[in-house]
Amino acid sequence: MELEKHEYDVVVVGAGGAGLRAAIEAHDSGARTAVVCKSLLGKAHTVMAEGGIAAAMANLYPEDNWRVHFRDTMRGGKMLNHWRMAQLHAQEAPDRVRELEDWGALFDRTPDGLISQRDFGGHRYARLAHVGDRTGLELIRTLQQRTVALGIDVYMECTVTRLLTDEDGIIGAFGYWRESGRFVAWQAPSVVLATGGIGKSYKVTSNSWEYTGDGHSLALQAGATLVNMEFVQFHPTGMVWPPSVRGILVTESVRGDGGILKNSAGNRFMFDYIPDFFRKETAETEAEADRWYDDKKNNRRPPELLPRDEVARAINSEVKAGRGTPHGGVYLDIASRRSPEYIRKRLPSMYHQFRELAEVDITAEPMEVGPTCHYVMGGVEVDPDTEAARVPGLYAAGEVAGGMHGSNRLGGNSLSDLLVFGRRAGQAAAEHAHGCAGRIELPDDALAEAGRAALAPFEREGGENPYTVQHDLQQTMHDLVGIIRTAPEMELALERIAALKERVANLSVEGHRQYNPGWHLALDLPHMLIVSECIARAALEREESRGGHTRDDFPGPDPGWGKTNLICSSASDGGVAIGHQPLPQMPAELAEIFEETPS
Ligand SMILES: Cc1cc2nc3c(=O)[nH]c(=O)nc-3n(C[C@H](O)[C@H](O)[C@H](O)COP(=O)(O)OP(=O)(O)OC[C@H]3O[C@@H](n4cnc5c(N)ncnc54)[C@H](O)[C@@H]3O)c2cc1C
Repeated sequence: MELEKHEYDVVVVGAGGAGLRAAIEAHDSGARTAVVCKSLLGKAHTVMAEGGIAAAMANLYPEDNWRVHFRDTMRGGKMLNHWRMAQLHAQEAPDRVRELEDWGALFDRTPDGLISQRDFGGHRYARLAHVGDRTGLELIRTLQQRTVALGIDVYMECTVTRLLTDEDGIIGAFGYWRESGRFVAWQAPSVVLATGGIGKSYKVTSNSWEYTGDGHSLALQAGATLVNMEFVQFHPTGMVWPPSVRGILVTESVRGDGGILKNSAGNRFMFDYIPDFFRKETAETEAEADRWYDDKKNNRRPPELLPRDEVARAINSEVKAGRGTPHGGVYLDIASRRSPEYIRKRLPSMYHQFRELAEVDITAEPMEVGPTCHYVMGGVEVDPDTEAARVPGLYAAGEVAGGMHGSNRLGGNSLSDLLVFGRRAGQAAAEHAHGCAGRIELPDDALAEAGRAALAPFEREGGENPYTVQHDLQQTMHDLVGIIRTAPEMELALERIAALKERVANLSVEGHRQYNPGWHLALDLPHMLIVSECIARAALEREESRGGHTRDDFPGPDPGWGKTNLICSSASDGGVAIGHQPLPQMPAELAEIFEETPS
């Protein structure tokens, strides 16, 4: 087998915000570091992030601080977050944003010249540092420039298909160049997974083609565990029309900047859906909500800015009750509330997105929006301080890691998560590698087996086309494990996933190894199926509704379930096993923060 081999201390899989931040830190800690990514450098999913980076910098509200950010994050996650991750995130995010600025990121400014911060759902104070509605682009541009300047090796358009392990842990990774189809292996005692999310398992999603859950599945197969997989975030506002763009994100900044939600009868329906948990802080009348937009200080927030799970469920209920728009969404109106100049300045991407894709002028008419699969809270179970998974030498950061966001992520908390935990993962991975000098070697038989598995779809004749299987999986997850779930539907989903697994074992692809998208999909599909099985099994097990997991047959949160995490591991039959694990105990000094009255 023709194979290119390389040797590093740390290999980072993924070149989004988490991967690049991890690689920079590993390099600065003295490790020989490489980054591998499926797409071109600079094209990772992070580039799509619009609204901003959440960090309690107190630039607009001096009352803001890490304790309030910590409390907002835990409450947004319905207290299922790993408290230590939420604490580190809230404490370290401001430094990570300032560091990004030192490295050349140009944020929007306040009139006083400070980094400007905008409002987002679930955050008590305006705290999202932003660059118009193109924050992810600036974040990636900055990190990418630094990665290149430091001389870190980047393997782009290269897919990792397998992690390599021996009895002591990680020894490297195996993959192929997408353009030529040739194989490549990296020998390394530390691998950082930063592969992002899983949205492509669903039919309607804001996620890009890269989100096939590779890192989740690679980790599970290498012996690591996944946590919180039942929690999938359906962002309340994706485009619903025309069909070709269904699911594309409409940033929460539209609501943060004054946009309101209305049903087909013209009613501002979110006032009917304020949960008790948030009632003290949420406006209950239009006049009260409008006062917040005019003078935010100490006023109760409009209900459109409740956490995403609450807003998505409310939209779903309105549409189900027959009060939706002609294309099955609701109206998001900023045109009647802000001037065209304001909208074009604050939301330039949204303005162009609707003009070009839907022929709608958002400065003059409302948008039609509905929920779209957006983010997975579940991911690799890691140590909060080092991001180490249960397999020695394996680390995970960013969307592929679990625990930080509990059952529901607040907007803006992902970009800060990438920077805080990417840095920590890079540092710990480098330290681990220094202790492993000369220990590892890639065995030929493992490499040959990885190559054989990758080429198997070419060997089978007359098998099924991968695109049909992908379509059926996306439909199954959309119909049966979506925003509202029931036991019979999820049992049916698991039956269908089992049948799809058999079909995947019989896939065949035609043509050559040179850029062959059908082959790429055939290699992605097993990951998508494993991840989908984890979501469906964990969702069936959790008999309550909480955050990004709503059960029609168990409508409310259950205090017992509020103390338990579900852990997915690889079962001996190749499937997924589910275990229960008590939540880590929060120290008293942090628990006290929830007793403090918000100022
Ligand atoms: C439209 C949109 C807007 C958003 N806006 C915001 C926002 O304003 N604020 C916020 O906080 N969050 C936002 N999010 C969420 C946030 O953007 C993501 O959660 C975050 O960017 C994920 O970053 P990451 O570094 O974990 O992964 P990514 O940026 O997705 O990077 C994953 C990397 O892994 C690589 N990869 C994957 N599999 C493999 C493999 N097998 N082999 C090699 N490489 C692989 C990919 O090529 C890519 O380089 C938004 C999400 C979307 C979809």
